[in-house]
Amino acid sequence: MSVFEVLEKFLDEKEKQPYPVHQYAFVSPKDITFSEHVRAACESNMCGRYGKSWTCPPGAGDWRDLAEHYRGYGNALVFTTKHDIEDSFDVEGMAAAAKEHAKVDEAVLKLLEKLDEPYELSGAGSCSVCTECTYPDAPCRFPKKARRSMEACGIDVVALSRHCQINYTNGTNTVTYFSIIYY
Ligand code: SF4
Repeated sequence: MSVFEVLEKFLDEKEKQPYPVHQYAFVSPKDITFSEHVRAACESNMCGRYGKSWTCPPGAGDWRDLAEHYRGYGNALVFTTKHDIEDSFDVEGMAAAAKEHAKVDEAVLKLLEKLDEPYELSGAGSCSVCTECTYPDAPCRFPKKARRSMEACGIDVVALSRHCQINYTNGTNTVTYFSIIYY
């Protein structure tokens, strides 16, 4: 099977995933907007992950190199999950939702792992595959499972959502997370 065929099957069975995919679109990576402003916001370290993972600045690499790298792929699947939270201050609910979203990332990567065709995922926030990241002392343990932060790459998710006609937000007391699979 090709990556596209596996992704189609994944989407056909999206209700069976660890958490249901809410919306999705296939796009050309060339249509993804990479922005130095997004990267700068990421580097301001609001999440506290700066310098703590291979998937976050500075270990993630220069955003311009990342943009060129991802634009080298021919295709991409963008998908979201939508989660209910108590209110816009529900930090614990957002963290729990991020974990549910990461389970979907892991499920799709598991489906792809036996394929020879190249693919990569960038997702919502810092990689959470290992309890403690090896950064900066040793190479990434699981480069095929690692999730590079979309913000670290400088991806403008608002522009991406408009391009894909996917909702950036999904209403009061919800949080929406995005991922991209490049192939
Ligand atoms: S897979 Fe593990 S070592 Fe690699 S970036 Fe993620 S947390 Fe770090």
